[in-house]
Amino acid sequence: MTCIFCKILNKEIPSFKIYEDENTYAFLDINPINKGHTLVISKKHYKDIYDIPENTLKHLILTVKKLSIPIKQATNADGISISQNNEEAAGQVIFHIHFHIIPKFKNKTSNKYKEGEAQKLANKIKTLL
Ligand code: AMP
Ligand code: ZN
Repeated sequence: MTCIFCKILNKEIPSFKIYEDENTYAFLDINPINKGHTLVISKKHYKDIYDIPENTLKHLILTVKKLSIPIKQATNADGISISQNNEEAAGQVIFHIHFHIIPKFKNKTSNKYKEGEAQKLANKIKTLL
């Protein structure tokens, strides 16, 4: 399996984990639109919204909901955007289905983590779960 997200699940590639349960896994995006930008993936590899079984999609969206408020609180965001891309034309780059949870701010903020900041934020989100 060469999929990057499957490698993250197998711990072949490190990630800043936010949350994990039987069906889903969530971690900080490596190239965040804003700090706290989180990806929620299914543990089983499905390519996209067409491919994923309905029941697995339910698990995925419930994890998105569960994480939204802790992410908003931990980042002091003014709002949260949820997105999910299917196929290259729609901006999908990693072909393992994932939802983006993106904190949004009224004022411009930096999206670059300082040394240790991503781990600290991941820990903060976890304490708010
Ligand atoms: P999409 O364009 O919807 O396929 O989103 C793919 C996302 O995966 C992008 O926001 C990337 O920054 C993110 N990404 C790629 N590789 C990694 C990685 N190793 N760890 C965390 N996020 C990643
Ligand atoms: Zn995969």
